[in-house]
Amino acid sequence: METVLLSDSATGLEKAAEFIKNGEIVGIPTETVYGLGADASNEDAVRRVFEAKGRPADNPLIVHLADFSQAEKYTLSIPALAFKLAERFCPGPLTMVLPKNDRIPVITSGGLDTVGIRVPSHPVMHRIIELSGRPIAAPSANTSGYPSPTSAEHVMRDMNGRIAAVVDGGSSEFGVESTVISIEGGSTARILRPGCITREMLLEICSDVIIDHAILHELEAGQKAASPGMKYKHYSPRADIIMVEGSLDSFIAYVGKQNGEGVYSLIFDTDRDGFPYRYMTYGKNSSEQAHLLFQRLRELDDAGAERVYVRAPEKNGVGLAVYNRLIRAAGFEVIRV
Ligand code: AMP
Ligand code: MG
Repeated sequence: METVLLSDSATGLEKAAEFIKNGEIVGIPTETVYGLGADASNEDAVRRVFEAKGRPADNPLIVHLADFSQAEKYTLSIPALAFKLAERFCPGPLTMVLPKNDRIPVITSGGLDTVGIRVPSHPVMHRIIELSGRPIAAPSANTSGYPSPTSAEHVMRDMNGRIAAVVDGGSSEFGVESTVISIEGGSTARILRPGCITREMLLEICSDVIIDHAILHELEAGQKAASPGMKYKHYSPRADIIMVEGSLDSFIAYVGKQNGEGVYSLIFDTDRDGFPYRYMTYGKNSSEQAHLLFQRLRELDDAGAERVYVRAPEKNGVGLAVYNRLIRAAGFEVIRV
């Protein structure tokens, strides 16, 4: 199959919507990362999304809608808190897990009786949903396990020959995937995957916001995952990633002892003056880190990095999302210096 690169012109979006209606798969830009879009109600199309990514069948796909009011069409019930959250955060990078109805096939929900619903704000994704008239299942458009794509070029590299088209909408604004939450009781939310809608922001609406244990800790053998994605190694480049927590001076001293062929450091912009070893930087605050992280992980592979020591980000605000992706990329290997 030849994968066509489409522009984000009106004609490009019409072609993309046509592909979706015909059961084909299209790489689509969103405000989080690029998604691998397919008609969520078409079992055959969804099956091919799992195949294209090499994604485990029990890892559910998020369903993207043009407006939160459409969620009623695909769910059994929607708690009042979900409507309040939607009013504040939709469209945007928030996914809410809700009880699904039969319009969402079980293959889409990875066998679960719930479905993650999101209303993306990116004009390209939004328009393609409208033009196709379909709910669009869209996991991140990377090969399963590899860092998520934040540009059309990343999608092409992973998916060329496996999908019908990619729409080029420039680089993704946020750079990490949506915040995924479930709703517990009347006014409590549980974060299953942190993102750019932070715990602090959710607390403007919810009385309590629980950070699921698996966001910062490895699941123990036999422990049940609140969200299937928690079970898998994720976001990993070919290079070994090692997170290092501590001051810049201790970081430099530690890397000095490990330094050699193929060793890189991934540090903050503010660390670069006089940094003595081979490095790349990934921004000066959490938002920039989120925006740049996946791109840098791919660039480190391109540069031939074999081992990468990463200055650990903050664990609050958007930093929690960056920390969560890195700790998984590192297979939970964190060194405190
Ligand atoms: P991705 O498609 O790559 O953005 O990953 C989506 C993630 O959202 C999955 O790995 C799941 O962990 C999570 N997710 C999606 N749907 C559900 C659901 N119904 N229940 C719990 N977690 C979900
Ligand atoms: Mg993903």
